[in-house]
Order: sequence, then structure tokens, then C-alpha cells
Amino acid sequence: MRRSLVVGNWKMNGGLAANARLLGRLASEWTATQSRELAVCVPAPYLVQAQAALTGSAVAWGAQDVSEHKQGAYTGDVSAAMLAEFGCRYAIVGHSERRQLHGETDAVVGAKARAALDAALVPIACVGETLAERERGETAAVIERQAAAVIAALGADLARIVLAYEPVWAIGTGRTASPEQAQAVHAALRAQLAAAGGADVAVLYGGSVKAANAAALFAMPDIDGGLVGGASLDADEFLTIARA
Ligand code: PEP
Repeated sequence: MRRSLVVGNWKMNGGLAANARLLGRLASEWTATQSRELAVCVPAPYLVQAQAALTGSAVAWGAQDVSEHKQGAYTGDVSAAMLAEFGCRYAIVGHSERRQLHGETDAVVGAKARAALDAALVPIACVGETLAERERGETAAVIERQAAAVIAALGADLARIVLAYEPVWAIGTGRTASPEQAQAVHAALRAQLAAAGGADVAVLYGGSVKAANAAALFAMPDIDGGLVGGASLDADEFLTIARA
């Protein structure tokens, strides 16, 4: 059966005091009985704080990136084994901001997903087209190519990952894909995953998800929850999305 989950991506936001308030609200107000899983992916320096605040709660935590390497001379990078030591369940890989600002290729994203899995983390692999690609009618080809790289890197372990469709033009822009636009891409991804042995992989939607639009997006048959950026920094907004 496909999992339903909502994951917050704090990006490079936060501070000890604000985090304590947000994590405290999530830990006390999100209960394990709800049918959906909730998680937050925090900046690496705050993993120890997230671990302390969320241990024993129904909220999982994770990182926003992971090195494709196991260890060694990779200044500034963080390995999957290190993330696992801080109780991470998830690691986002291939977020469009990493692809655009750090030049991460499809092959690197696949290697990062592999490294995460090898340390028993669940990679949340992101795919998504730019506005220019959508306007050129290339959405399907771009998504298929990006997903294929992850599928190729994971082989028989594909079933253990989470995928996130995040149209680049909808991230942090306030412009959301309509439920129908998102569903069309999710259905194509679902078919691609099923053909590769990953029929039960959860596929999340991300891109300006907020309390006002979450229910309509999550109601679509191939959308299994959301990857939420800006709105995950507000406890009321994030919890409302999580309950949508
Ligand atoms: C994200 O960063 O993954 C994201 C979807 O951001 P936002 O919700 O702010 O568009």
C-alpha cells in the first residue's frame, strides 16, 4: 500500500528559539493515530535539536541533502551515515535549488539517492521542470529523464524511496500547479515507477503548497502528500496542511 506523508523543507531558515517553538508544537499536536506521516527536513546544524525535540513523538526528521560519497576529502559535505547517527529517517535529494545552484546532475542525484538508501535513510528524490521547459512542451520528457536516473541508480531497491514532483516554476513563487496539472505528471510518474517495480512508491507534490490548496491537491488519485517549503515554517499552516 502507498504511504501518505507530508514533509516540511525548512530550506536555509530557522534559529534555535524559533525552531524550539515550531518543533514543540509539532511534537505535541501531531498524533501517531493519524493516517499520514509527518516529517521535517531541517538544516544540518539543527538536526541534533530536531532529534531532541521529536524523539518519542510521531514526527520524523531528516536532512535536505546528502553526499554521494561515504567519507573523505569533501569539505562541507555531510554523509548519509552521519545523518543516520542523528536519527534521520529522510534525506531530500535532487531539490531544484541544489540542481540549479550547485550544478547537481541527474547522475549525482541518483548517486545521492543510492548513498542515502545504503545508510538506511529514505531518499526523497525531487524531479521537476522549469517554466521554460514547460512552455516548450518538454515537461513529460524532463520528468521522465530525471526519474529514470534515480530508478537506474536504485535498481531493486526502488520500492524503498519517496519521489517528489516539484515544478520549478511553482517553488517559492506562490504559483501552484493546479490539481489537474499536478495529477497529469503524477500519473505519468506512477506508470514509470510501476514499470520499474516501484508501484507503491509514494509520490509527493511540492510547489507553494499551503493550507488553502492542500486538500484539493492531496485529493488527486496519484498525489500521496506534499513536500512543503515556506508554509512548513508556520506551525498552524503546516499542521493544517498535514491534516488536509
Ligand atoms: C520546496 O522547497 O521544496 C518547496 C516546495 O517550497 P515552497 O513550498 O515554498 O514552494
